[in-house]
Amino acid sequence: MQTTLRGVGVSHGVAIGEVRHMGTAVLEPPAKQIPPEEADREQGRARQAVEAVAADLIARGNLAGGEAQHVLEAQAMIAQDPELMVDADRRIAVGSTAERAVYDAFSHYRELLAGAGEYMAGRVADLDDVRNRIVARLLGVPMPGVPDSDEPYVLIARDLAPADTALLDPTLVLGFVTEEGGPTSHSAILARALGVPAIVALPGAGELAEGTLIAVDGSTGELFVEPSAEKRAEMEASAAARKAALAGSSGPGATSDGHKVPLLANVGGPGDVPAAVEAGAEGVGLFRTEFLFLDDSAKAPSEEKQIASYRAVLEAFPEGRVVVRVLDAGADKPLDFLTPADEPNPALGVRGLRSLLEHPDVLRTQLTALAKAAEGLPVHLEVMAPMVADRIDAKAFADACREAGLQAKFGAMVEIPSAALRARSILQEVEFLSLGTNDLAQYAFAADRQVGAVSRLQDPWQPALLDLIAMSAEAASAEGKSCGVCGEAASDPLLACVLTGLGITSLSMGAASIPYVRATLAKYTLAQCERAAVAARAADTAEEARVAAQAVLSGE
Ligand code: PEP
Ligand code: MG
Repeated sequence: MQTTLRGVGVSHGVAIGEVRHMGTAVLEPPAKQIPPEEADREQGRARQAVEAVAADLIARGNLAGGEAQHVLEAQAMIAQDPELMVDADRRIAVGSTAERAVYDAFSHYRELLAGAGEYMAGRVADLDDVRNRIVARLLGVPMPGVPDSDEPYVLIARDLAPADTALLDPTLVLGFVTEEGGPTSHSAILARALGVPAIVALPGAGELAEGTLIAVDGSTGELFVEPSAEKRAEMEASAAARKAALAGSSGPGATSDGHKVPLLANVGGPGDVPAAVEAGAEGVGLFRTEFLFLDDSAKAPSEEKQIASYRAVLEAFPEGRVVVRVLDAGADKPLDFLTPADEPNPALGVRGLRSLLEHPDVLRTQLTALAKAAEGLPVHLEVMAPMVADRIDAKAFADACREAGLQAKFGAMVEIPSAALRARSILQEVEFLSLGTNDLAQYAFAADRQVGAVSRLQDPWQPALLDLIAMSAEAASAEGKSCGVCGEAASDPLLACVLTGLGITSLSMGAASIPYVRATLAKYTLAQCERAAVAARAADTAEEARVAAQAVLSGE
């Protein structure tokens, strides 16, 4: 019998495939004693597990090549470190199980590393990863992290950290389902960037057995367990029909009466550029540069590495606009060298621009790298800061850009309600605004974007959020400056029309959403969008706002 589960659909399309679970963190093995006669056998098991993990890491390195190969080979060397093995053997000889001995030997080494200066402390994560792999093998549980599979699968996870998702192979991941996470969590954003269907906030997903056949509808948020052949055929046909309806849509974004709303792409690096170009993006509205920094959280990438990455994105849009956001570290994207480890509430702590102002050298290197990357290119470079709270923040950022000799427009993201409330004051320092509606909703509703249980409050149709957006757009218009949206709100085709009606001047989203937004916007006039915006703001709930806007646009 087919069961249907329901979550929040966050990335369009249908995925049909087998369940693979993201391996969870390895639990500490119990400290049970073994009799002395079992010591030899346990030492053999430990040695076998170490060798198997090292061989697996080397094999994966050979497949990956490049930088990843060096990292994986270094991890294999950690696994085979003779001192660790001697320590584990000694622990087994006095009564530990193989898994407990490996766990304790690594913990001991970990403490030594953690106390040996910043660079070595950064290697602790590698050590933990190797330990988790060996212990998982000994316990016979799935390896932590992204599943090892040669066959395409639908990935199920509690939530996905950006560092995990960066390792996913888009040719193998047919779709995502997460138990946690709201529609604006980074797992949802990454699913859109990969262009795969996704559902978030689906609590029962973790209980689906590995290998179960499921069908995921990323538009409706429905997950069908062991769907019948008819159901699969029906879902595939409707997804194909939806895709075909979009095939005719191309060209710049505009309402049916020609009011232009540039449609830009959100990218995390050069790897996302081909999809953006193919979708007809008119430029980049949000380049999330932090993905470049997540590879190695112990130190910032070199200026050369940054220049190469920025230039690759800038060159892809020779005449277009490219809006680069400076590093947004902290909260769910911590970096060891920037983010304080002991913050009681990281989302309200030193993140985004705040951490850059505390580490001006990191900001300076990034701005200098951007200036060098843009040299000689005709691109319209714009640079913006995340998490601007007030005019003091905006001025500090603009000053840093000027000091770095950057030939670009400087802007501020509106992600904190104070910035929307005092947008005109911020605009005295910068030339444009860009609304990060994901964080703006998080802070306006005191609803953590990582927590599925509060996803109702993360709904970008919330009228209070629409009010803050309207306030920012009006302030920008009064100052004769532009105000775009680069949060996930822009990727909802109906909401994109409402945003246009609120006076938003550009919309930036994951490339896969561009054709949907373009096709919907082209159906309505600016006046219809404005009426839909008035109706949505007059509603009391997100659902009523959606219904009211839809009613206006469909002429009911
Ligand atoms: C946002 O907060 O809306 C945004 C665009 O930034 P990020 O999602 O990367 O925090
Ligand atoms: Mg943000």
